[in-house]
Amino acid sequence: MKVFKFGGASIKNESAIRNLLPILAKEEGKLLVVISALGKTTNALEDLLYAAYYQSDRSEEKFLQVHESHTQIAQSLFQADSIAFQKLQSLFDDLRLDLQDITTVDYAEAYDRIVAYGELFSTCLVSEWLNAAGFENSRVDIRQVLKTDGWHRNARIDWDATAVLLKENFDFAKHRVIITQGFIGSTPDGKTTTLGREGSDYSAAALSYLCDAEDMTVWKDVAGIFTADPAEMPDVQLLDELSYFEAIELSFFGAKIIHPKTIKPLQNKRIPLYVKSFLNPDAPGTIIHEIEGRMQLPPIYIFKKNQILISISPKDFSFITEDHLSNIFHIFASIGLKINVSENSALSFSVCADHDTRVINQVVELLKPAYHVKFNENLELLTIRHYTEEAVSRQLMGREVVLEQRNRATIRMVVKEL
Ligand code: ASP
Ligand code: MG
Repeated sequence: MKVFKFGGASIKNESAIRNLLPILAKEEGKLLVVISALGKTTNALEDLLYAAYYQSDRSEEKFLQVHESHTQIAQSLFQADSIAFQKLQSLFDDLRLDLQDITTVDYAEAYDRIVAYGELFSTCLVSEWLNAAGFENSRVDIRQVLKTDGWHRNARIDWDATAVLLKENFDFAKHRVIITQGFIGSTPDGKTTTLGREGSDYSAAALSYLCDAEDMTVWKDVAGIFTADPAEMPDVQLLDELSYFEAIELSFFGAKIIHPKTIKPLQNKRIPLYVKSFLNPDAPGTIIHEIEGRMQLPPIYIFKKNQILISISPKDFSFITEDHLSNIFHIFASIGLKINVSENSALSFSVCADHDTRVINQVVELLKPAYHVKFNENLELLTIRHYTEEAVSRQLMGREVVLEQRNRATIRMVVKEL
């Protein structure tokens, strides 16, 4: 049994969805297909939720945008009398109902309830269309299978409960192809949860692990993993293979290839992961698998733009000790701020994070009573794995380093354009 994961870009419009068929049709064995939301739907749903929660007058307009984009795709995929329209519309009716009393639950729980619709819409469209095109498949609502704790927006999988439910719900003896949602799950009492942004790679890996998949493939709009994002640097080189270890390190440092949590479940059962292009499915792509020892690799670049450096110092001039740190980390975790790099001195703690204004503002509100908070904006975080001095100095042309950390294999620099 194999697992395929299709992300937003691979199903962003009608022709992209039609392109799934030849890729799937090549597989003769059992297949689990894990799908994320269409294109940028998750962002659109985040905006919709924000509007519904805080600015109710804008919520209808945002709802209609999401509705319109999905209906348009449905119209180009299906015959006018197709039952798919009713199924899609009934999901939108559910979404509307959920939005009505959304402020009765806290924001994180509301987030999961609303944002999860992206995956429900996309799997409905894809599965219905494939069935209509003669490619038989069965659709499973993953919330009946993938159980998590109640940490909304970043839920942790309950592996034992999921293993049991998986046996009951994934009947490969009856259905050769099963289509399900990435990114979402549910708590034991049935509340919808999500696994963190871009989490459907992780869903696919968890399900690969639990199903003892032969291998897993992530279908992307690039030919595999390169020494840098081809959109950001000329002369990049495709990496034919990576060890699990290297892949974890790269995704941890922010390479957008795969979600950082994806590798562990695969490594634990030595399940190979292919990263391939849905535009050129016959090309070999990159394989991530077990490789003994350290790999000799060229410099690999990871750029994270739109970074902010937040410097936090206690108002009472006390040292940054463990109790301060634990307090600060607690605030970060409660809002969902992810630290990209951090550094502390006697009197201040600095973190480099993605500049997401909403998250930063919420964090600052909570820090303000006890700490002075300063910012340095418009920064970029540059990581070079397997760096050479030449690679570093080439990158630093026209840039000033605000913070630097290096070890033998990796250099990380927070930089500002001069
Ligand atoms: N649709 C979700 C997101 O955009 C999950 C995913 O794409 O992996 O974050
Ligand atoms: Mg996505």
